[in-house]
Amino acid sequence: MIQKRIILKTGKEKSVLQRHPWIFSGAVASVTGDPQPGETVEVCGYQGEPLGWAAYSPHSSIRARIWSFNSNEEIVPEFFVRKIEAAAHLRKMLNLIEKTNAYRLIHGEADGIPGLIVDLYPETAVVQILSAGAEYWRDVLVDQIQQITACKAVVERSDVEVRQLEGLPFREGVIRGEGVPARLKIIENGIEYWVDVIGGQKTGFYLDQRQNRQRLTELARDREVLNAFCYTGGFTLSALAGGAKSVLSIDSSATALHLASENLILNGFDPAKNQWLEGNVFQELRLLRDRNKKFDLIVLDPPKFAPTSAQAQKAARAYKDINLLGFKLLRSGGILVTFSCSGGISRDLFQKIVADAALDAGVDARIVEVLSQSGDHPVALNFPESAYLKGLVCVVE
Ligand code: SAH
Repeated sequence: MIQKRIILKTGKEKSVLQRHPWIFSGAVASVTGDPQPGETVEVCGYQGEPLGWAAYSPHSSIRARIWSFNSNEEIVPEFFVRKIEAAAHLRKMLNLIEKTNAYRLIHGEADGIPGLIVDLYPETAVVQILSAGAEYWRDVLVDQIQQITACKAVVERSDVEVRQLEGLPFREGVIRGEGVPARLKIIENGIEYWVDVIGGQKTGFYLDQRQNRQRLTELARDREVLNAFCYTGGFTLSALAGGAKSVLSIDSSATALHLASENLILNGFDPAKNQWLEGNVFQELRLLRDRNKKFDLIVLDPPKFAPTSAQAQKAARAYKDINLLGFKLLRSGGILVTFSCSGGISRDLFQKIVADAALDAGVDARIVEVLSQSGDHPVALNFPESAYLKGLVCVVE
């Protein structure tokens, strides 16, 4: 039998030696052994020197994702058990239990399992399988996650567009166990939230913003707050918990707003202090500007405008637009808390966009704090792409 192998073009072994886990189609000189989607292949340099083991993905421009840089490693179920246990150990070390009962257990490449996302909610794990390799090992991964976490049910939310790039169909639903309630209740930073792991966005909750929501609580006292792209009310409730004077919360999803208003009641906050507004942020911010409305604190947490660098230019215009409007809506001394979760927009570029927005808005602003994703979404040093959430806290003069 011919060995299943990927031979790289000359010079293309460099990024593998630097332990970057992606091999792009343009780096591949030849493929032997007719590997099927997700199958394990040996990665070799141009001279045939072994560099490690990867999952083959014939339909994706990321042609292979490396499981191991050790050519003596065997990619067998025990390999994945070790990775999942290591990920669980890291989260234990972070002592998240004091802050939350919902966290990310596996953050894909940054936890050594490219293409696998697992968020752990009370008694329920929610998985996203985003690559051909993770799909190939799906049963092993799901069984082990259930066993290692001792969760009662596993829900799959592989309903994201990147699956199409890997030639995979969408799949979702309860795949292990039963009795997943329509809503789970979590507690984060002392605030309770209903989470819809089956019908909600992503895996149900944006766990990556946990520490930034906490920060908002600390910044919100006596301020008039605008929370744009509020989803189920994370930053809204965090601001109210911190003693905000009032909050205006905007989102285009009626379903998200419905859950958001229930979350507000769940925590016993005064509903009169917040207004939910269903609408398009791009339009609503313009309407507020035209009415000369001003705020003391504005949060902009839009969805991913640029999943990859191919969409960066268009996305940059959208970020500039909302940040410009944000600056215009702030009173003197006001605070803009602005985010980008786009993989295609670097931190440098994001800061530049925000700087341009301030310039065009005619305000002087300073960065007082730089924000990122919570530690249960680790960043692999050899994989800077895993640092996807970029946030800036700017104070205008
Ligand atoms: N800050 C939130 C997460 C925001 S996710 C939290 O902490 O939980 C981004 C949100 O933007 C989603 O709820 C989505 O429904 C909403 N959204 C996307 N495009 C929008 C638009 N053009 N106008 C208003 N909301 C939008």
